[in-house]
Amino acid sequence: MKDYETLFLINYGLYVVSSINKAGKVNGFIANAFTQVNSDPPTFALVVNKNNFTHNFIEESGVFSLSILSINTPLSFIGHFGFKSGKEIDKFLNIKYINSENGVPVVIENAVGYLVSNVIKKVDMGSHTIFIGDLQESVTLNDEEPMTYLYYRRVKKGTTSKNAPTYISKEKLEGKKMEKYVCKVCGYVYDPAVGDPDSGINPGTPFDKLPDSWVCPICGAGKDQFEKE
Ligand code: FE
Repeated sequence: MKDYETLFLINYGLYVVSSINKAGKVNGFIANAFTQVNSDPPTFALVVNKNNFTHNFIEESGVFSLSILSINTPLSFIGHFGFKSGKEIDKFLNIKYINSENGVPVVIENAVGYLVSNVIKKVDMGSHTIFIGDLQESVTLNDEEPMTYLYYRRVKKGTTSKNAPTYISKEKLEGKKMEKYVCKVCGYVYDPAVGDPDSGINPGTPFDKLPDSWVCPICGAGKDQFEKE
């Protein structure tokens, strides 16, 4: 059998990967498919979809940075790098970043540390490329806990896991509307049991009680872009 839900049990981190192109334009995106593959010398594998705007930047410059996101990273920050395209906006505007020794930008906002890699090998996987990188720089910025993809999915995104620390049972919310609403733009699910703590929305707040100014914490779409799940 193939239970595709099982694949969600595989653990990943959550990262902002940044690079620069020949024209000096910088861009970054949210990645989770990154792993160390060798220890001596340290070598890493980063998987990037070819449709990703940053993919060609990495091909052109042969260098990328990887910012390891903190567990305290707001959804809006992940949405900024994950659900907006660098074709339309400058993602680095109003974001805290530094330039590494070899010129690639490094996002330090919400990061616990970062790596800078030069690409030493590429593997063509059809829809994706695996970039194999060496270690040029590695810096620890603070002692916050790194975000995991599972935490992002189950806790930050507010899906239905009863294991999530913010989960509140239906019994506790008796009498309150429990319908979940889905963002038609990015797929974020508003779950009243979880609320949207990043935006000051307490658990137990039904969708129709959200203020009109509330927007999707991931992509910034308005309430009118939501439909019942
Ligand atoms: Fe959205």
